[in-house]
Parts: sequence; structure tokens; C-alpha cells
Amino acid sequence: MTKKRIGILGATGLVGQRLALMLDNHPWFEVSAVAASDRSIGKRYGDAAPWRLAAPMPAAVSDLTVGPCEPPLDCDLVISSLPSGIASIAEPAFAAAGYPVISNSSALRMHPDVPLVIPEVNWRHVDLIDAQRRLRGWDRGFVLTNPNCSAIALVLALAPLAERFGLETVAVTTMQAISGAGYPGVASIDITDNVVPFIDGEEEKLEEEPGKLLGVLAGDHIEPASFRMSAQCNRVNVQDGHLESVRLSLQRKASREDLLDALASWSSLPQELGLPSAPASPVLLRTERDRPQPRLDRDASAGMSTVVGRVAPDTIFDWKMTLLGNNVVRGAAGAAILNAELLVALERV
Ligand code: NAP
Repeated sequence: MTKKRIGILGATGLVGQRLALMLDNHPWFEVSAVAASDRSIGKRYGDAAPWRLAAPMPAAVSDLTVGPCEPPLDCDLVISSLPSGIASIAEPAFAAAGYPVISNSSALRMHPDVPLVIPEVNWRHVDLIDAQRRLRGWDRGFVLTNPNCSAIALVLALAPLAERFGLETVAVTTMQAISGAGYPGVASIDITDNVVPFIDGEEEKLEEEPGKLLGVLAGDHIEPASFRMSAQCNRVNVQDGHLESVRLSLQRKASREDLLDALASWSSLPQELGLPSAPASPVLLRTERDRPQPRLDRDASAGMSTVVGRVAPDTIFDWKMTLLGNNVVRGAAGAAILNAELLVALERV
């Protein structure tokens, strides 16, 4: 199989760097173009990117010259990791120019004709691409988005419960890593010895996106799932890995054994198809009383699974649990790559 050539928008940022690393030696893809802001345009990627990963920068990208975030770009598909302001202009411009675009940005996620996809949860929503092209007059291009990083970790655990028991109410409190704010991110003087109980726009995303993810495709839009969702988000002094305390009530009664079985036994199309980046189990269960923890569990399944623990009955809701997702891997770069693999497998790119 000839490798598909990927162009990364926002390639010098934290997510862009993780994309460059994860795409190195990928069996289906190679990075052929990198783009970023005026600060970086015209420079070698190796000189422009403030490399912040422990693994060395892949040789295949270090000599690429950084281009502008506008078409044309020398690639077959585009993965965007741009801030939302510029993404709202650049991503439709690439789609209109005929490129498939997979986006990490929040800019277009909740547009009715834009698929918001976690491959295990709602791969069928990919078909919304047809309506999008019709509505926007795009022939070959389209935009498909990854959800918010906390929403991905949460909904990977909610989906098996929604399928088997139905969801009624979900309340989540997040403890989100500093890498979630990009580079250079939160000022060190604000986050050292501290917890910041506010992340701009995050609670709104976490309250909106799960309904769309668990909804059903209805022609030219997604009919959202009808459960009540409440979120509170905090920034904590952890490098990578968002921890989330969840309480939920179900439509149908479940025993703890039923609940654990639904979570642990769940798998979906990416596992069936053996997509290269799909984890063997989308949800990993920990039984110790003090897990999951960011430092110990963020690299489980190479960062692609949600790790769930502390599943117990709740005195107000039906159940409570703690979960962890790797925000830069499954919450961003890995999410985009798995979506790209899904699109190849479904012959959409
Ligand atoms: P980041 O480290 O701040 O990187 C931003 C990237 O965008 C850099 O490559 C930067 O290029 C480029 N950029 C900034 N302004 C630009 C402009 N006006 N024109 C063209 N390029 C511009 O941010 P990040 O953490 O990688 O996040 C990128 C996107 O992914 C955001 O939308 C974020 O919300 C989303 N996301 C992040 C995470 C996470 O865990 N970090 C998770 C999920 C989603 P220069 O280096 O040239 O300035």
C-alpha cells in the first residue's frame, strides 16, 4: 500500500510535535508537509519547533520547511492542530480546496454538518461528510473533528454504559494536565503549588460534546442523545493525563458486575478492523483502590485507552468512578491518527 501523505497544520505546537512523532514509521501514513504561524514560516522544522518530547525529533520531519497554513500543501490529507481562531478560517479553506481535514480544534466541532468522531463510539457519523459536502458545495474535501480531550476520555467510558443500560445523568469534575493548554501554556507562577478552578470554554465543551457523540445520524445533522450532563474543570500541576471524577445515573438498573463487564468487554469497529493505532481494549479497568493515577497510567495501551477505576455505588447518583485519559495522545494526536485510519478503512480518503 502506498503511504498517504499527511500535512500537519500547527506542526510546531505540542499536539503537532506529538503527531510528527506518532506518524514516524506509521504503516499507512508519512508526514510530507508542515505548516505553522508567521513566526515559523520559511524555517526548517527542526529549528522552528520548540521540541518538548522525550523521544528525539524524527529525522523525516526535521528538514521539512515550515509553510503557511493555507492551501495548496503537498499532501493527500491534512491534520490540523491549530488554535480555534485560525482553524475556523484555515480548515474550511483546505476542505474547499479539495483536502480531507481532520481537526483537533474546537472551531467547527458543534457545527451541525461537521462529524465529531471517536472511532469506537460513533464511526457511523462519518457519513455526515456527504451532507456536509452537499451543503457547502465541496466536491472532494471535508472537515471531520476530534472531540475535546476530556470529552474523549469520558465518552470512551460512557459509550459502553449508554449502549447497555442507557444514560440518565452524568456529572464530571476534571483535573486537567498543564500540557492541555499547549506550549508555553499556563504561566509557571500560576500553576506551581496550585490548582486553577477555571479553563476557558472547557466546561461548555464537556457539557455539549458528549450528547453529539452519543447521538444518532439523522440525514444532515446529528440528533443528540438526551441525558443531562454537568461539568466542572480544573487545571492541576500534572504534565500529561487528565483525571476525571464521574458520577452517573443509568436508565436501567445494573449490578457492579454488569457495569464492570460492560466496560471491560467493550470493543468496536477499530478493534475489529485492527486499525494500527486502535488499542486492544478502549477501556482498561484497574481494581486497586488508588488507581488510575496520571503518572502511573497515562501510558497504558500507548496512551490510547481510557483507564477506569474506583467503580462504586454512589449515595446520590447510581454510580461513581474515576477515569484517566492521555490528553495529548488519545485526547489529540492519537485521536486524529485513529480517525485518519478509520477514514482510510472506510475508503473516505
Ligand atoms: P500550541 O502548543 O499552542 O501550538 C499551536 C500551533 O498553532 C503552533 O504550531 C503554532 O505555530 C500554530 N499557530 C498559532 N497561531 C497561528 C496562526 N495565527 N497561524 C498559523 N499557525 C498558528 O497548542 P496545542 O496544545 O498543540 O493545541 C493545538 C490545538 O489542539 C488547539 O486547538 C487545542 O485546543 C487542541 N487540543 C490540544 C490538546 C492538548 O492536550 N494540548 C488536546 C486536544 C486538543 P508557531 O509555533 O509558529 O507559533
